[in-house]
Amino acid sequence: MTDRSPASAAAAADAALAAPFPPTGLYIDGQWQSGAGSFPVFNPADGTELSQVAACTADHALAALAAADRAQPAWRRLAPRKRANLLHAAHRLMLAREDAFVRVMTLESGKPLTEARAEFLLSADFLLWFAEQVAHLHGTYADASNGGFRIVVSHQPVGPCLLITPWNFPLLMIVRKAGAALAAGCTTITKTAQETPLTGALFTQVLHDAGFPPGVANLLHTQASAAVSDTLLADPRLRKVSFTGSTRVGAHLMQLGAANIVNASMELGGDGPFLVLDDADLDLAVDQAIICKFRNAGQACVAANRIIVDRRVEADFTRKFVGKVAELKVGNGMEPVDVGPMISARQRDRLYDTIRDLTEAGGQVLTGGRAVQSPGYFFEPTVIRFDAPNRVMCSNELFAPIATIFAVDGVAEALSFANDSRFGLASYVFTNDLSRAVRLGEDLEFGMVGINRGIMADPAAPFGGTKASGIGREAGHEGIYEFLEKKYMAITVGEAKETL
Ligand code: NAD
Repeated sequence: MTDRSPASAAAAADAALAAPFPPTGLYIDGQWQSGAGSFPVFNPADGTELSQVAACTADHALAALAAADRAQPAWRRLAPRKRANLLHAAHRLMLAREDAFVRVMTLESGKPLTEARAEFLLSADFLLWFAEQVAHLHGTYADASNGGFRIVVSHQPVGPCLLITPWNFPLLMIVRKAGAALAAGCTTITKTAQETPLTGALFTQVLHDAGFPPGVANLLHTQASAAVSDTLLADPRLRKVSFTGSTRVGAHLMQLGAANIVNASMELGGDGPFLVLDDADLDLAVDQAIICKFRNAGQACVAANRIIVDRRVEADFTRKFVGKVAELKVGNGMEPVDVGPMISARQRDRLYDTIRDLTEAGGQVLTGGRAVQSPGYFFEPTVIRFDAPNRVMCSNELFAPIATIFAVDGVAEALSFANDSRFGLASYVFTNDLSRAVRLGEDLEFGMVGINRGIMADPAAPFGGTKASGIGREAGHEGIYEFLEKKYMAITVGEAKETL
């Protein structure tokens, strides 16, 4: 997975260490400011405190909303080309600060430098995509069906938006929301995950330095998220919540917004089935399964959660897969490793219960299965095999470096097991038969299907899920419309006439 050459590893670590730390305050109405006390940010690779960041209260949240509400009319009216120019300026500044971003992401989230760099470059691409989209929005013009007037449909920004993001992709999740919202002409209040506020601060500093007007993009940190969500979702000035995180919290936020009919986009959990058919290229499937499962120590919504393999090739697949998993190097992400730590001691410790539940359900541990003895929160890359489909893993998001493999009898059993889930985010199919791939792609009840590939995120693609995995899509041509509402104008042309 990793370029382990000593020269490239040393150069990457040196560049990362040389980069500066971000601001630690709240960003409201164009100013960095202190909060009501502060809370610590830890490095999950060794448990040390990295920094203290300002903690917001409900009053700070209201101040941010007031600023966003004041800034909204002018931001909406700014010429698309000018909004695009600001986003392009932010994109250039981001690229110039690559090492600072990469270092901070590794330090606070634990992901290896190579993964942090990949996330950074993808995030920059997303920002560029949104910058390019701004000036290309268009509406429609039509005759009324009775011929009596004209129908003009245009798009208008929804209004001030609350953006709530998780820690596992601390930059990508913010850019995918804020980039689209700002491009659409919405003002934003971003609430970072308490584990990874510094990455959000670096991005906000980029927006500030690029010249975004005061109040357009605000940033809050807190350990008590309810102070922000309960307050803002009850305030009619807030018009949208865009959330990425667990299904439980997403459902709660939708309930909070129900009274004001707050527009909601939800990117929630998944239990990604990864299907390997009997005609698949097994080496390709193994390599992609390793990336898809162990990237970010398995803490990804699109991770391969259930690896479902046709019994005719399962022994071969499993032997090759386990061999590669056993070679994965676990350790501090600032060093050349493949797998970093879990985000917290609590997340690591819960995995003992997970392993117990899976083995009690009939799973056999083929490698791994224990925490790594270290001050950091590491867990061994683990593979657990089941001899047949087992419901213990349906709707059960592992979010850990634990792979489960299930032997199945043929395509029909693979499909029915894959669809036996409340989730519907990412799924994967490995086969060399095009018509089987297309057929399965159509029948999988998931928002995304990777065919012979285990990584799918791209600015040009609509990212999102069905069922309990969410509502709406991020990026692609569609993503910006999550932050826009249709406006219809009926226009009398010449003499008004009604023909009905
Ligand atoms: P989480 O739901 O616990 O937290 C996500 C965010 O919500 C954090 O910022 C957290 O502080 C905040 N939050 C928690 N309670 C809140 C409340 N009452 N009001 C307002 N904000 C609140 O999820 P997590 O453990 O941080 O992230 C993991 C989950 O996120 C997994 O289920 C994963 O699948 C999902 N996820 C989904 C996607 C996607 O695009 N679909 C991407 C990444 C992660």
